[in-house]
Amino acid sequence: MLTLLYRSDAVALLPFSALADICVRSSLNNRRLGVTGFLIEHEGTFLQVLEGEADAVGTLFARISSDTRHRNLAMLGRWERPERSFGFWAMNFGPLDDPDFWDDEFALLRDAQAFRRRSCDPETALAVLCRAYAFAGKVAGADPVIGDFVMGLSRPVRQPVGV
Ligand code: FAD
Repeated sequence: MLTLLYRSDAVALLPFSALADICVRSSLNNRRLGVTGFLIEHEGTFLQVLEGEADAVGTLFARISSDTRHRNLAMLGRWERPERSFGFWAMNFGPLDDPDFWDDEFALLRDAQAFRRRSCDPETALAVLCRAYAFAGKVAGADPVIGDFVMGLSRPVRQPVGV
């Protein structure tokens, strides 16, 4: 099972509807490929993790890399693991608008410039993605509408970490 972690910059700030469109289409595509993924966007910086068989992930990443909605893609990590760590959704994106997300050690990352700069650090990027993934799981569990929405998009592979 290959996991890829990358960051990129949006060419222009995308409205929620455009992010939701990427998420819905990606969910369908990723499920077909057997890929699971999680994406966050904060003030024009994207972080995404993709997991699946190496060929499928590689093909998908090549397609994402040529998407003109973002640029400055940087691969932050690539590792083989027997199991998925972000396997709950074929695709979902993190709810970073909750002020509680940005407490403790994440407080300094809320600033757009700081987030963009620190997103290049693989350890920080992974920590933010893990936190967003756990938050998304809580939101999905607590709000039936959102729960149905996100879970209706993709078949859960297993329970999200920490939820
Ligand atoms: P298409 O029919 O080719 O297009 C999908 C939709 O996206 C259409 O509404 C089209 O108008 C719109 N679109 C495509 N490219 C552009 C563009 N350059 N500018 C404006 N609108 C455009 N795809 C996945 O399948 N899985 C992922 O995990 C995934 N993650 C992504 C993460 C990021 C940060 C970004 C920016 C894109 C991601 N994508 C992902 C989208 C991917 O780059 C391709 O656009 C998509 O895979 C094409 O899918 P399709 O052939 O089904 O759709």
